[in-house]
Amino acid sequence: MSRKGLFYKTKEEVELIRESSLLVGKALAEVAKVIRPGVTTLSLDKVAYEFIKDNNAVPAFLNYNGFPNSLCISVNAAVVHGIPGKYELREGDIVSVDCGVVKNKFFGDSAYTFAIGEVKAEILHLLKITEESLYKGIEMSVVGKRIGDVANAVQTLAEANGYGVVRELVGHGIGRSLHEDPEVPNYGKQGSGLKFQEGLVIAIEPMINMGTKSVVHESDGWTIVTKDGLPSAHFEHTVAIGKEKADILSSFKEIEEALKQNQNSLTI
Ligand code: MG
Ligand code: MG
Repeated sequence: MSRKGLFYKTKEEVELIRESSLLVGKALAEVAKVIRPGVTTLSLDKVAYEFIKDNNAVPAFLNYNGFPNSLCISVNAAVVHGIPGKYELREGDIVSVDCGVVKNKFFGDSAYTFAIGEVKAEILHLLKITEESLYKGIEMSVVGKRIGDVANAVQTLAEANGYGVVRELVGHGIGRSLHEDPEVPNYGKQGSGLKFQEGLVIAIEPMINMGTKSVVHESDGWTIVTKDGLPSAHFEHTVAIGKEKADILSSFKEIEEALKQNQNSLTI
């Protein structure tokens, strides 16, 4: 992962990152419309690829350091960076879908973990806490707070629930590059690290494991999985540091609306 330095954005640049980030949310909503037992992860990738292309943007992950697809799709024990393929989703799976786009030279990045059909209550709890930990981190994304405040807020909620916080993978600054400084870990000490100023845009992305925090690389060279084989969840927003309140540039709203429709279509 190349990190090309620390850049503060103008208001106009933040709006361009918002446009890209909202497009990511809409691409994930297209995925949400069709995700269900029996579909392959590669078919979800195709949906996102077509949607991004149709909206005059470029899938940011495609060919990134040689990554072969537009989405990272990580099922169950896979934490992140899963490669879409022939695997057919099953009732009870959880699926992290991570998407990035570049449009007007600016990137957007967001991820959502989907529950496929009926999922065990304890696994749904992992999803709920992981998403909540993201919002705890976002609450800290204001001028005067520090990276360590975001990191600690995520870690505190996850560990209070007995979960493992992945150390090896972190969030990041984002703008003209997918990965800029600073690194945004999901663990750390309050009051430590870079102090936030206006114009900083970061992707916060808790990766929270049901069991051990330890992860290993799969032999495909990309997929990161939990060492103990227990499930892992991942939610991500692109966020601009705000004076009083963080400005969430990506959105889960369209995803959640699409999921409701998807559910209805399954129960008719
Ligand atoms: Mg991402
Ligand atoms: Mg990211």
